[in-house]
Amino acid sequence: MFNKVLLGESQHRPVLFCSLMQNAQVLIVGGGIGGLTTALCLAAKGIRSVVFEQSVDFSQAGAGIQIGPNASRVLHQLGLEAKLRRTAFLPTQAEIRQWKTGRLLSINVFDSNAGEGGFPHYHLHRSDLISVLADTAQESPLIQLQTGAKVVEITQTEAQVELIENGSRHSGEALIAADGIHSMVREKLFGLDAAQFTGNVAWRALVPANKLPRSLGPVAGVWWGPGKHFVHYYVRGGSMVNCVCVVEKSGWHVESWVERGERDELKRDFTGWNDTIQMLISHMGMDDCYKWALFDRAPMQQWSKSRITLLGDACHATLPFMAQGAAMAIEDAAVLAECLNGRTGAAIDVANGLIEYENLRKTRTRKIQLGSRRNATIFHLGGVKAWVRNQSMIANPAKRIMQSIYNFDVYADFDEP
Ligand SMILES: Cc1cc2nc3c(=O)[nH]c(=O)nc-3n(C[C@H](O)[C@H](O)[C@H](O)COP(=O)(O)OP(=O)(O)OC[C@H]3O[C@@H](n4cnc5c(N)ncnc54)[C@H](O)[C@@H]3O)c2cc1C
Repeated sequence: MFNKVLLGESQHRPVLFCSLMQNAQVLIVGGGIGGLTTALCLAAKGIRSVVFEQSVDFSQAGAGIQIGPNASRVLHQLGLEAKLRRTAFLPTQAEIRQWKTGRLLSINVFDSNAGEGGFPHYHLHRSDLISVLADTAQESPLIQLQTGAKVVEITQTEAQVELIENGSRHSGEALIAADGIHSMVREKLFGLDAAQFTGNVAWRALVPANKLPRSLGPVAGVWWGPGKHFVHYYVRGGSMVNCVCVVEKSGWHVESWVERGERDELKRDFTGWNDTIQMLISHMGMDDCYKWALFDRAPMQQWSKSRITLLGDACHATLPFMAQGAAMAIEDAAVLAECLNGRTGAAIDVANGLIEYENLRKTRTRKIQLGSRRNATIFHLGGVKAWVRNQSMIANPAKRIMQSIYNFDVYADFDEP
C-alpha cells in the first residue's frame, strides 16, 4: 500500500522531498517494530517524524511473535488495544515440558490476561502486528512513511542531522536508527562490530489449526531437550499455530524471514521427540519451513552521539530465548519519546534527551540480553544437568518466572505518559 504511493510518486520526488523537509523533525531509519513504534510514540507527544524503510512494503513473512505485558502496556498507551485484540491470540499460560515424555516441568501463568484495559500477552502473526503499527502510523498527520528507501549515508552538524536514500537528502533535528541487528548507522557511529553466530538455528513454520487432529489448548507449549527446544503457540485468533524450533547446528549462517529449509531436515532434527512435536511437524507444509541463523552481540557501552541514537536490535540484539527482543524495542520507543518531549530544537537539548534515554534503557536491555543468552544454555541442557534442572522445576511448578520482567512499567520514571 505504502510502496504504491511512494514508488508511484518517485518521478515527483523533489516535491515530496520539499514537503518532508518542512515537516520533518525526527528521522527514523528502519520501519520494523522498533521504528514504527517510535514514530507512533513521538506522534503521541506531538513530534513529527519520517520513517525510512528499505523494503518495498511493511509486511513481514510468516512467523509469530509474543508480545509480553511490559510491551502491550506501551501499545495500549498508543490506543492500539482494540486492533490488537481483533487479530491476536491471548494465551492463559506457558507450559514447559520434557522433550520426550512430555512431562510437565513448569507452568508460567499469564495472570495479566484480565479483560479490557489489562496488559495481556498477545501472540501475533508478525504481519498483523506490523500492519497495526503501519496502518496507524499512516493515519497520523505527524508521520511520513517512506518504503523502498534504503538509507546509505548519515551525517550530523551541530544544527541538524542529514541522511541520504535513493540519492535524496533529508534533514531533521534527531536521527533514530532502528535498522536492526546489522545496523548501518551503528557501524558508521561506532565502527564495525560484526554480530557473532551463536551456533543456533531457529526453524519457523505456521500450521493451520484446523488441520491438527487435536487442540493444543489455550497455552504456549515450550519443550526442552538436549541441544534443542521447540515452542508452539496460536496466532490469528487461534486459527494458526506458530512453531519456533531452535537447534544447535553449524553450517547455516543466513538470517532471513524468507529463507526456506527442508521439512525433512527439521523432522530429522526432532527425531525421537514427543508425539505432539511429531504431529506438529507432520502438518507443516513441505515448502512452509523457514530457517534463521541466530546471531548475537555483547551489550554496547554507548548508543548515542549528539543528535543520533540507536534503538531496538540496532543497539541490543537479543536472542529469542525470553521472547523479549521486540518488547525491548517497544519499551525503548516509549522512553525515547518521553526523553525527547519538549526537547527537539537546540542541539544541547536533543543530545541531552538522547543521553537520558540511553541511560534509562541500558541496564534493563543488558539484563534481558544476558538473560536470553543464559536461557540458551539452560533450555538445551542434556544428561545429569538436565535431570537436576527438571527436578528443581517439578518441585516448584507454578512459577511466575518472568513476572518481574512483565510487570515493568516503562512510564514509572515519568510523571505521566
Ligand atoms: C526466531 C525469532 C523469534 C523471535 N521471537 C520474539 C518474540 O516472540 N517476542 C519478542 O519480543 N521478540 C522476538 N524476537 C526478536 C525480535 O524479532 C526483534 O528483537 C525485533 O524484530 C527487533 O525489532 P527492530 O525494529 O529493532 O529491528 P528489525 O525488526 O530488524 O527491523 C529493522 C528494520 O530496518 C530496516 N532497515 C535496515 N537497514 C536499513 C537501511 N539502511 N535503510 C532503511 N531501512 C533499513 C529493515 O528492513 C527492517 O525493516 C524474535 C527473533 C527471532 C529471530
